[in-house]
Amino acid sequence: MRSTSASASPLARYGSWLARNGRTVRAVQWSVVAIYALLVVVPALLPLPPDNARALDNLTVFAQWAFWGLWWPFVILSMFAAGRTWCGVFCPEGTLTEAASRFGWHRPTPRWLRWGGWPFVAFAITTVYGQLVSVYQYPKAVLLVLGGSTIAAIATGLVFGREKRVWCRYLCPVNGVFDVLSRVAPVHFRVDRERWAANAGHMAIHPVNCAPMVRIRRMTGNAESHMCGRCAGDLDAVTLASRSPNDEVLDAHAEPTAWDAILIVVGVIGIAIGAFQWSASPWFVQAKVAATELVVDHGPAWLLADSAPWWLMTHYPEANDVFTWLDGMLIVAYIAAAALVLSAAVFMLLYAAARTAPAPRVRNVWRLTHALIPLAGLGVFLGLSSLTVALARAEGAWLGWVSWARVALLAVGAAWSAYLFWRMLAAAQTTPRRVAAWTACCGAIAVIVAAWAVLFFIWSPVR
Ligand code: SF4
Repeated sequence: MRSTSASASPLARYGSWLARNGRTVRAVQWSVVAIYALLVVVPALLPLPPDNARALDNLTVFAQWAFWGLWWPFVILSMFAAGRTWCGVFCPEGTLTEAASRFGWHRPTPRWLRWGGWPFVAFAITTVYGQLVSVYQYPKAVLLVLGGSTIAAIATGLVFGREKRVWCRYLCPVNGVFDVLSRVAPVHFRVDRERWAANAGHMAIHPVNCAPMVRIRRMTGNAESHMCGRCAGDLDAVTLASRSPNDEVLDAHAEPTAWDAILIVVGVIGIAIGAFQWSASPWFVQAKVAATELVVDHGPAWLLADSAPWWLMTHYPEANDVFTWLDGMLIVAYIAAAALVLSAAVFMLLYAAARTAPAPRVRNVWRLTHALIPLAGLGVFLGLSSLTVALARAEGAWLGWVSWARVALLAVGAAWSAYLFWRMLAAAQTTPRRVAAWTACCGAIAVIVAAWAVLFFIWSPVR
């Protein structure tokens, strides 16, 4: 049974519209699948574009704009505004894996697949591999990384679940990132549990196929919901509603997990910063010169060979862009070192701050990491949008405002995270202890801001 009163808010009416217009949503989804397939497959079959190619006269450059200039950065940003609406209404992999699971073997989801570490592991592997094959630059690498992920999504759908999104829920490389970022969205599907219980015995139950398998009655936040709207109005108890963007992060009843904390600090902060930094880093160049001298003097010589295939490491002699085995090892080492140093600094500062609250200290650390979600997410948006800036520069656009926009976004992320830390530390026994703990947390913020600032304003400034 569903209902939408005439006095419902525009948000609630939009939620109900989604529930009533599944055919329109599916038409949108399959249109995105068609555009996605065209932009992933066709450029990989074309020769590399000349240096002076532009988005409007070359499909490969257009696809580069579509995927890396617009799609990725703004999907990240959309998590802050609309939760995982991207997943539920637009994502081509979600559409395909759900469609495949209508026809496949319908196997139950095995335990190994439900392992809590997959979101971090899948994100880390995909991010590092994307750097090795230069996924932002070359269409064959796009076909390999995005197309490979899509085939894996379809295969997962064929094997597991029935009209479900097992891939999205457990294995998608960006599931974890979307999961944590959507927690600060100012909208959510609110479940009125009392009304649910009161209506459950009286109203006809409309079977809702929640593709990402959320237990709707118990849903308290955005992390798992794909915001598809199918459950809107269910038992007159589910409504799309606004909320404070801080509610979910500050919810004292939420049970923080180690994997969420690792994903936020090691993945979305450490690995992401390392992946965006290495190509602009003078430290990387110095390490490469020193390592090359060492190999020339002592071997083994094969480390300097550029014989790796393009699907393992960047290999485009026609574009003068070829990685040696040593290059590949140094890229992995740089990203790993950046992740290690940043994560160690952040965790140590949060551990110091966690002493002030009465709960177990490790649990406090996991919880405190959630305050970093705004800064981590805006940092990734800025990192991804540096590709937008590079593409816009090639189109001759005026970019004088970019540095100021970066300063403003980093400041917003830092201030928002600092505010969340302050609220989280309310359980400190005394005000001086709260201030001391908050200062340690601000130290963690400063470490992250410094890592992005070095990249954007010293190593790779926009002039
Ligand atoms: S709980 Fe499930 S059905 Fe409801 S909006 Fe979220 S994904 Fe859709």
